[in-house]
Amino acid sequence: MKDGFHYISETQYQLLEDAEELYNNAPVGYLSFLPDGTIIRINKRLLSWLDLRIEEVLNRLKFSDLFTIGGKIYYQNHVFPLLMMQGFVNEVNFELSCRDKSIKPVLVNALTIKDKFDHPLNFRATITDISDRKKYENQLLYEKKKAETERQRFKLITDLLPELVVTTDHKGSLHFANIKALKYFGTYEANSIYDFFNFVFPAHRFLLLLNWKRSLSRIVPLEKEVRLLNAIGKYEWYLVKAIPYKEEESGDSRWLWVGISISNQKHLVSKMDEFLSIASHELKSPLTTTKAYLQLLLRNYSDHTIRKYVNKTNKQVEKLEILIKDLLDVSKIQADQMQFRFEMASVNGLLIDTIEALKTFSETHKIELKTLKEDVVVSMDRMRMEQVIINLVNNGIKYSPDSSKISVAIEKHAHYVVISVSDYGIGIPSSEVNLLFERFYRVTNALHVSGLGMGLYISQQIVHKHGGEIKVVSEVGKGSTFSIYLPVHS
Ligand code: ADP
Repeated sequence: MKDGFHYISETQYQLLEDAEELYNNAPVGYLSFLPDGTIIRINKRLLSWLDLRIEEVLNRLKFSDLFTIGGKIYYQNHVFPLLMMQGFVNEVNFELSCRDKSIKPVLVNALTIKDKFDHPLNFRATITDISDRKKYENQLLYEKKKAETERQRFKLITDLLPELVVTTDHKGSLHFANIKALKYFGTYEANSIYDFFNFVFPAHRFLLLLNWKRSLSRIVPLEKEVRLLNAIGKYEWYLVKAIPYKEEESGDSRWLWVGISISNQKHLVSKMDEFLSIASHELKSPLTTTKAYLQLLLRNYSDHTIRKYVNKTNKQVEKLEILIKDLLDVSKIQADQMQFRFEMASVNGLLIDTIEALKTFSETHKIELKTLKEDVVVSMDRMRMEQVIINLVNNGIKYSPDSSKISVAIEKHAHYVVISVSDYGIGIPSSEVNLLFERFYRVTNALHVSGLGMGLYISQQIVHKHGGEIKVVSEVGKGSTFSIYLPVHS
């Protein structure tokens, strides 16, 4: 000290300047205030947030003047007593009230500076801007609320549906169930302890799982008829549909399952099967007797006119016989009682014999057969395979009234043979190709031609029992090719 002045060195001066610079421009607000709240020091950062000039603040405003009304009250009732008692406060949420009436959320840390008698001299506060954090928190809250609203909406909608609706995770653990499903399964809540597959009839479980895995890998919807266990321990028929989706909130993969009750349809179908089975058996016996009487007539009467009418009657009886045989086959397939007698038989032989027989009956069409140069022998029930080929050729004839040719060909591949029957007739609309093989299905463009829609169903079942497949390629107005794929075991 000299002349009553403090003299400081250049370096000391520089250090002071740096400290001042840091104080003013730090990314946080600093201020000091007296026990009565009067602000005695404030940094530039805080002033810029408040949009105030230093002379408007120093010795004019109190600490609590910087906050919203709620903040003022909170400061008086909680923060100030704490500062007096414990000497500090940490991370207290406040809102700064700025000049332009905008509000800035901040966190306040404050410390009491005391004299040697433990009396508070002043307080120092650090103020951190948390606008971004608040914005993020608000956004999160908003998203959460939105997801909750969506969940509520989903629940409301699905609770109104008559179907069972559940969602599961990718393993099948239940995640959500609508009221109908909760009641059906007899559970009070959708809980992950429940595995959806446990409600599926054990014999259907494996197939459903298989289909599920398949649709998972191909990302296609699943559709399967299965029996599901109800609350009183009985299994009921459901058509189960499922689609995968990603949950927006968590990004988790989920499955939405909808179960449509088909018990009534199943009951009706089984009644129809029962009726078919009884009716076809009942029809068969009088027809056999009629045939026997017709044989007797032929044997005992040589009169030309009588023989002519008996032969005509015989033809009609044969048609009836074919129909009844088909009906019987359908009911046998339904009951899984169709018998097969497999033997190793030549494919050329099968085709040559069958087509020869068909040629003698066909008056309108020429049937061309292309056999294999090198014959192949496959395991087959020859009578049943004949039945399939007769059905395909007869269909070709029936549904190509304006053409006169049917082509039958055999192709040999390494592990299978393909027998194809082509016609040049009315063809099949592509929208109906997948329905052709369903029981009693008849295509809309062919309803004027008589038929019952049993032949292709029976044919497909027979081919499946041979471990094969039957496919069709068709174009309306151009014709159709039905191909039978049969496995060759070397
Ligand atoms: P049906 O011929 O007795 O009606 P099918 O089961 O043999 O029964 O055939 C089912 C339906 O498929 C037929 O009603 C017909 O509409 C269609 N269809 C079958 N074969 C052909 C074909 N070759 N060309 C066009 N439509 C066909």
